[in-house]
Amino acid sequence: MTMRTLLKATALLAATMLTLPAAALAAPQVAVSIKPIHSLVASVMKGIAEPGLILKGAGSPHTYQMKPTDAEMLQNAEIVFWVGPGLEKFMEKPIESLAGKAKVVELEDAPGLLKLPMREGGAFEAHNDGDDHHEAGGHEHEGHAEEGHNHAEAGHEDHDGHEHGEHDAHIWLNTTNAKLLAKEIAAGLSEVDPANAPRYAANLASLEGQLDSLSTEIKATVAPVKDKPIVVFHDAYQYFEKEFGIRVAGSITVSPETLPGAARISEIHDKLTTLGASCVFAEPQFEPKLVNVVVEGTSAKTGTLDPEAATLTEGPGLYFELMRSIAGSIKSCLSQ
Ligand SMILES: [Zn+2]
Repeated sequence: MTMRTLLKATALLAATMLTLPAAALAAPQVAVSIKPIHSLVASVMKGIAEPGLILKGAGSPHTYQMKPTDAEMLQNAEIVFWVGPGLEKFMEKPIESLAGKAKVVELEDAPGLLKLPMREGGAFEAHNDGDDHHEAGGHEHEGHAEEGHNHAEAGHEDHDGHEHGEHDAHIWLNTTNAKLLAKEIAAGLSEVDPANAPRYAANLASLEGQLDSLSTEIKATVAPVKDKPIVVFHDAYQYFEKEFGIRVAGSITVSPETLPGAARISEIHDKLTTLGASCVFAEPQFEPKLVNVVVEGTSAKTGTLDPEAATLTEGPGLYFELMRSIAGSIKSCLSQ
């Protein structure tokens, strides 16, 4: 190699090294609270960058506590997406402490969103039975290896919140809502990263089409079983019920921060027959044996639903997998 070509090569290399970090900086630093929302953000950001996810793995937003790495992700973010204090209570204070450093998008406030009040009473757990909860809840949680559990405290705070007529925060379990969330996500991203706005808009349009197809597909999946009542672990499915005509007759617990006590378990057990529910669903982050106790001696079958995607791998496809798996579990249990 001559000196001349060597110099040329070095110059080329230097130029490449200069352009690489510049290209990486062009994409905004994004932090997202939970997997279902992260999946929608990842779809809108396809081909640009991958958003950061705070609640990884199998944790529940109802019980999670921030780690130092999560705080760091928030500190470095240019834009933060979360549902709101009704769901990710663990993020409320850390977001306040950002003090305007990042654009914070509280998706609960997205325009046009279907929002339903919390259900309570009847087959849905009333909120004034905290003592019973705590006694049995503490016991049941022993040996439960979930990270960052502090359910007694969180449960009290959440009970207070629920009593003041909050909306059900599981807003993503509905494809019409998901389209509105995606629209809000694209608007936020375009604001902090206007250079990529056309790409966000194109990704949004494609996602909206996929969500319409998903809705049609799920309607067909659940059509044969949709009027059969079911009992769920926590009351997370109202938005799914509204869209697909599923009938949730009751929930074992309203506040998943606290496990139901013995009295609640036997109450639901006794009510199974009058509710006419032929399936009772556990959730992956909660003890399946509780559900077995609920159905003991009845003809009801059991299944598992994962409304917060605890068992699914993050990414653009997760949202679709999540909705399909809920529909599939309901169908397969009710078809038995
Ligand atoms: Zn939930």
